[in-house]
Amino acid sequence: MHNVWLHLDLDAFYASVEQLDRPEYRGLPVIVGQGKRGVVSACSYEAREFGVRSAMPVAQAEKLCPDGIFLPVRMQRYQEVSRALMQHLYDFTPELQQISVDEAFLNLSGTERLLGPVEASAARIKLQVRNTFGLACSVGIAETKFLAKLASDYRKPDGLYRVLPGDELRFIDTLKLSDLFGVGKRTVQLLEGLGVRSPADLRKFRQEELRGYFGPSSGEYLYQVARGRDPGIYSGDAEDRSISHETTFESDLQDPQAVRTVLLELCEAVFFRMATQELSGAVIFVKFRTHEFLTRSARHTLSRPVASLDLFYQECVRLLEKTWDGSPLRLIGAGIGGLHDNDEDRQLDLFSDKSDRSAKVDAAVAELRRRYGANELVRARLVKPRQP
Ligand SMILES: [Mg+2]
Repeated sequence: MHNVWLHLDLDAFYASVEQLDRPEYRGLPVIVGQGKRGVVSACSYEAREFGVRSAMPVAQAEKLCPDGIFLPVRMQRYQEVSRALMQHLYDFTPELQQISVDEAFLNLSGTERLLGPVEASAARIKLQVRNTFGLACSVGIAETKFLAKLASDYRKPDGLYRVLPGDELRFIDTLKLSDLFGVGKRTVQLLEGLGVRSPADLRKFRQEELRGYFGPSSGEYLYQVARGRDPGIYSGDAEDRSISHETTFESDLQDPQAVRTVLLELCEAVFFRMATQELSGAVIFVKFRTHEFLTRSARHTLSRPVASLDLFYQECVRLLEKTWDGSPLRLIGAGIGGLHDNDEDRQLDLFSDKSDRSAKVDAAVAELRRRYGANELVRARLVKPRQP
């Protein structure tokens, strides 16, 4: 029997929630981002018509779209909508893996007899999301999670695309190298230097060659992906599990306050995912890439699992300050590793009452926003490390 994975990705999620809550913003260019010196977290499709993109400096977005509606990030509200929506999706499958605030994999294997053709189920899911939550989403269907994720991106927004079994390679060959999730600008440049312009070109290289050029894990990744195979990044059963998020900036970011604001958002996303997946871990890491494409990372293992978003964020700031020389950044990421199921960690206060877990995450986020929100008073405190 074939596996059937569906990847659901909400379209322009933060901006769509804002338009949902404020009907007067519908049909208008809405840009969600933190502060004048920050970057765009999300923008509506109306804003994209002006050339606005996520990860672009807010100042640049203001130039491109001076009449745009600029709004602050309301993570707590997005998580509230996300939680209700994910709960709803369980009607379609008992096996759901949420991978971010607006994305999830649904295992639809073996549901055809009960629910009818998979495409029809997918269309029903899309309709339900629209009718119940007023949100548009794109879905991709494939035999593997990785291809399902690529497929949901394929017809965005409001898309529905299925990669049929046996059609994987043909599908991959319709994509650009940069469409392959995880292949960034730098990798594309390196590949072009090797004369590789398409996934088909990539297949001309042997496994060892790619490992030699890009290192063992990236080389292996490229080798598998070019063949339409799942590189296993969403398998969730690897020995050393980790959850991380990263943002690549449209143009370099140097302002420490803006960098911290982005870091806070990344921490929220990671912490939320960790908590909703009932995982905990003690390894904290940050990574960043400089203007010269140097990638640096730093990690620290705590004596016990990360129990609060505050602690996680503080630790990330500390690691960043220790490692970053203040030069312009292209990318920043944060994550928690060494993950294991929460059940093994009863001492964790935050998760002691499972039914109340999400509410506690929300409360933690709200508390952190209150303390570190982008205002001048807090900014002064962030610049100086806090006294013990
Ligand atoms: Mg999305």
